Amino acid sequence: MNFEDNTEEAAFRTEARAWIQANAPHELRTGLQAAIAQTTSSVHPPEIDGYDPLKISKAWQARKSEAGWACLHWPTQFGGRDATPIQRVIWQQEEGIYSQLSNLFVVGHGMAGPTLITHGTAAQKERHLNPIVSGQDVWCQLFSEPSGGSDLAGLRSRAQRSGDEWIINGQKIWTTHGQFADWGIMLVRTDPSVVKHEGLTMFIVDMKAAGVEARPIKQMTGEMHFCEVFFTDVRVPDSNRIGAIGGGWRVSLTTLMNERLQLAAAIPTGVPEFFDLCCELETSTGLPIDDPAVRAQLATWIARQRGLQWAMMRTISALSGGRPPGPENSIGKLVAGEIAQELCAFALDIQGPAGAILDEKGTGRSFQKMLLTSPAIRVGGGTAEIQKNILAEQVLGLPADIRADKGMPFNKIPTGRS
Ligand SMILES: Cc1cc2nc3c(=O)[nH]c(=O)nc-3n(C[C@H](O)[C@H](O)[C@H](O)COP(=O)(O)OP(=O)(O)OC[C@H]3O[C@@H](n4cnc5c(N)ncnc54)[C@H](O)[C@@H]3O)c2cc1C
Repeated sequence: MNFEDNTEEAAFRTEARAWIQANAPHELRTGLQAAIAQTTSSVHPPEIDGYDPLKISKAWQARKSEAGWACLHWPTQFGGRDATPIQRVIWQQEEGIYSQLSNLFVVGHGMAGPTLITHGTAAQKERHLNPIVSGQDVWCQLFSEPSGGSDLAGLRSRAQRSGDEWIINGQKIWTTHGQFADWGIMLVRTDPSVVKHEGLTMFIVDMKAAGVEARPIKQMTGEMHFCEVFFTDVRVPDSNRIGAIGGGWRVSLTTLMNERLQLAAAIPTGVPEFFDLCCELETSTGLPIDDPAVRAQLATWIARQRGLQWAMMRTISALSGGRPPGPENSIGKLVAGEIAQELCAFALDIQGPAGAILDEKGTGRSFQKMLLTSPAIRVGGGTAEIQKNILAEQVLGLPADIRADKGMPFNKIPTGRS
């Protein structure tokens, strides 16, 4: 592994650092630090007292876009910078806390945009890519349904052709940013008489169209960051179809591949903050850092956290050397999710009765709120069990899961209904 920038990387870092120093909204710095201490999520627009989360996110995105620092990995012709993966990593390191202001655009930049670049028509690229880069339009991903999560190809929302339009009916769920979105990238069933993966088609859906209703879901933190979205006779022009009729699964693989790359980025685990808590918390038996049982637990998490850091450094080193990242890239979410959940529960235990108090305005990291958001790391973008299946089958070469509906037309798969 090589941790040093080469000459070109160092020059890129200097340029990025100078631009960020001159242009970042430094007045938001303290508020952003407080916002990040309240969550393990990296998709929610930061909430800072006295500021509209959407406005501050859009303003920073527009400024970056005007100066050519938005969507670095996109081709220049679509408003990106044709940046190498390692330049992207350097930018993320330099942008630091201000990258929180891009959370609102995570679907547009990381999933919908790359999908349109690969599969969209010239007219779709012309209409949508620029407003995605500049932060003018917010996008959501309309994939999961009550009957189609891990088994995404089992989804039931329908689109039926009517002249030059399609009429969509059904329900999506867990739609991040559904309440803010201008547009959605939506996978629906257009032919139930063929095997499940072959009867799907992808569409661009106007989230403000008649018949679209986004209902925010209240999470156990009290916040509402995702929605269930209902579609009742929603008319979508055929010109909004992405890819071939029945070719939606292939298009969705591009979206999902890009989603995994996004998720492979660093996930906060809370280990450094837990170390601080152990050194500062006055309990009836002294500081937790002096308790051998706490020290043993802390050492385990620090070792796992370091392992994650080195695995990420290995990925960065491979990218820098022009090599593709190895399978270690897939373990990040799996390990970080487990650490965050176990560590937060333990942090509340050592706080005793005070652990039950949700102190949102308190200083340092809120382990209470983090505990409540941490299960999402294990579920979003593919559950921990599905990640393990992927690792088992694709990395370790173990036998594949049994798929009882393989080769069966979708409308012949037993549903339990008579
Ligand atoms: C924070 C967050 C944001 C999200 N944002 C979006 C979004 O913007 N758009 C979107 O479309 N979706 C979104 N999702 C949904 C997410 O993709 C799904 O929750 C996820 O794919 C799991 O699907 P499910 O919830 O239906 O669980 P299910 O698939 O019903 O799984 C239930 C349980 O069964 C296990 N399981 C299922 N199949 C297997 C198997 N074959 N082997 C072993 N175990 C199995 C799972 O691991 C899980 O524990 C989001 C989810 C979260 C948590």
